Amino acid sequence: MVAKMIDGHAVARQVRAQCREWTMTLAGSGVIPGLAVIIVGDNAASRIYVANKIKACTEVGLKSTVYAFDASTPGNVVEAEIRRLNDDPTVHGILVQLPLPARMDGRRVLAAISRDKDVDGFHLYNVGALVQGETMFPPCTPFGVQKMLEYENIPVEGQNVVVVGASNIVGKPMALMLMQKDATVCICHAKTRDLAQFTILADILVVAAGRPNLILPQMVRTGAVVIDVGINRLPDGRLVGDVDFEGVRQKASYISPVPGGVGPMTVTMLVHNTVQSARRYAELQNPVHPELAWC
Ligand code: NAD
Repeated sequence: MVAKMIDGHAVARQVRAQCREWTMTLAGSGVIPGLAVIIVGDNAASRIYVANKIKACTEVGLKSTVYAFDASTPGNVVEAEIRRLNDDPTVHGILVQLPLPARMDGRRVLAAISRDKDVDGFHLYNVGALVQGETMFPPCTPFGVQKMLEYENIPVEGQNVVVVGASNIVGKPMALMLMQKDATVCICHAKTRDLAQFTILADILVVAAGRPNLILPQMVRTGAVVIDVGINRLPDGRLVGDVDFEGVRQKASYISPVPGGVGPMTVTMLVHNTVQSARRYAELQNPVHPELAWC
């Protein structure tokens, strides 16, 4: 068996086309979805991520604005700017690019974002709502994985899902989202003893550990669906995931590549969440407009 590749760019194109349609409908009622991106300091990787987000927003017709602060800016100044953006009706999504400088209280800064504009889904209120299965803003990376499974019509209900990695931004929300879809979910992490005894049971294996070659073919059940979230830069400059791609693709039924798999979905779901927030705003302004019904 050779796995079918899940093309993240193709899924992203489909989601962005839908977002573009929504954006055009919103424009007809005078609402342009707006995203504010806060960046503190001059982390080179963060600058690239922010540039990608702005580009994706522009492609879909959103208005995005970057608020860049020097690394020495006091946390309360950044929080004050966030509060100003919370009150700005032209801004429907606010995100703080992580990591923040180590001396800054990141939790305080994230907590300053209005839960109604928290398009990354990291506000504690939205994390709680995710646990209850009713968040407005599913975190972008696991949301992207969910869309990839939907795109390929891969059933989740009743499936054994193993998530490798238990971070707040990928592993934990991924597990919650698939549990919400009635999968049987197991989460593994760095302290898990004998990882293979869990991964081999997976119908769907989602790997987000940040460890190249963590998942080898003998750890994967024949016919499993394997989603590789990991992004690792090797010493020779190559970008790889956490899965031994060439080996595992001989056993899996579906596999997502790195690059070109989950990566394009993360930024796309940020655009999606921002447009949805704008739709909700428009709906609240004009509750009788049927085309703008919030979903
Ligand atoms: P993290 O460092 O916050 O968390 C890593 C998790 O993996 C932890 O729970 C840790 O316990 C677990 N882990 C580490 N080594 C392990 C091992 N040997 N066996 C089992 N579990 C192990 O990382 P993160 O932010 O969740 O990101 C994980 C990976 O996903 C990274 O490579 C990151 O670059 C990538 N990532 C990709 C995207 C994307 O858009 N494709 C988005 C976010 C993160």
